[in-house]
Amino acid sequence: MNNMSRRMDFLNGLINNLKEQNLYGELPVLSTDQKNRVVLNGREVLMMCSNNYLGFANHPRLRAAAKQAIDKWGLGTGAVRQIAGTMEIHNQLEEMLAEYKHTEASLVFVAGIAANRGTIQAIMGEEDVIISDELNHGSIIDGVRLTKSARKIYPHLDTDGLENALRETKDARRRLIVTDGVFSMDGDIAPLDRIVELAEEYDAMVMVDDAHGDGVLGKDGRGIVDHFGLEGRVDIDMGTLSKAFGCLGGYIAGRKELREYLINTARSFIFTTAHPPAVAAAAMEAIKMIRDEPRHLRQLWDNTRYFKKGMTELGFDIGHSSTPITPVMAGGSRSAVELSKGLFEEGLFAKPIVFPLVARDKARVRINLSAQHTRDDLNEALRIFEKAGKSMKLV
Ligand SMILES: *Cc1c(COP(=O)(O)O)cnc(C)c1O
Repeated sequence: MNNMSRRMDFLNGLINNLKEQNLYGELPVLSTDQKNRVVLNGREVLMMCSNNYLGFANHPRLRAAAKQAIDKWGLGTGAVRQIAGTMEIHNQLEEMLAEYKHTEASLVFVAGIAANRGTIQAIMGEEDVIISDELNHGSIIDGVRLTKSARKIYPHLDTDGLENALRETKDARRRLIVTDGVFSMDGDIAPLDRIVELAEEYDAMVMVDDAHGDGVLGKDGRGIVDHFGLEGRVDIDMGTLSKAFGCLGGYIAGRKELREYLINTARSFIFTTAHPPAVAAAAMEAIKMIRDEPRHLRQLWDNTRYFKKGMTELGFDIGHSSTPITPVMAGGSRSAVELSKGLFEEGLFAKPIVFPLVARDKARVRINLSAQHTRDDLNEALRIFEKAGKSMKLV
């Protein structure tokens, strides 16, 4: 054995640990574009767990916009935004996002995770306190960890717990309440109206991560702030271009000073190359499409209601989601893994989600509806669930 393989040997031990803890997985591979029916790991299946809510990821209008941008601007940007990578098209996208979200300004990052990390790190210092829902997304947790701020974690959705945290931290220089808008595991929605009231009462800032609300909630898919009618009252509205918008990237929307400050301080913005212009062009097309083809958003919600009703009638426990995210409860980890396998054998792909991502007895298969699912797709999905559920005695 050579020296390098000996030095790297510890990885085998670590991988075995992961396997023992159910934390190990391989990457499922698509041989087609992302859509309702795909070929995955060599098998034709119904895709039921992408975040492609509106079916934009492979849409002809977005493809055309991206191709045109490649013809005009080329492929890469060759530099970070601050040095030489900003093209007119990046600024146009940011203006469009700000207009769409009804904020003064916006700033696009290469990914949602970069937006959360960079923003939280840039604005929160040692004298400050971050107050965070216990089930916030990993990218928020990363952002919090990158600061020297004190942390207060409140129980999931618990605004009394939040108020306690606000009472206990009155001496802090600045306070930031941060929450997912739609929680990705359960599909439940943060009580943002109450959170904003408390923030105003206790003079704290609010940051909401709208990754699963963008393009899904509110008028024209404007997201959770529009859903609750809170325009102008949320300091930092973070979203992604990667999910309903079918592209890639994260952004923050808010005051123009926020943009100005982040351009100069957010490390995940400064130290990374600007988006390919084709991504910016496709994202702009997505925002246009949400507005001039409202049928996609309608279809998404029709599908969501239809599928959930069918699953409830079959007797499945589908939790308390109020969004297209639909957890199908399976009990323990092993049971969720078995359900997912059973579904795949019958031609439906949805990943199991197990401890420690969720509580031990709350393992599930998580379904995500899309506007692209046809009635036939959904009926077939219900049939497959019925068969797998009965053979496992879940229903
Ligand atoms: C997906 C997701 C992100 C990360 O967005 P990317 O653009 O995929 O990096 C951030 N927050 C939440 C809640 C998410 O679900």
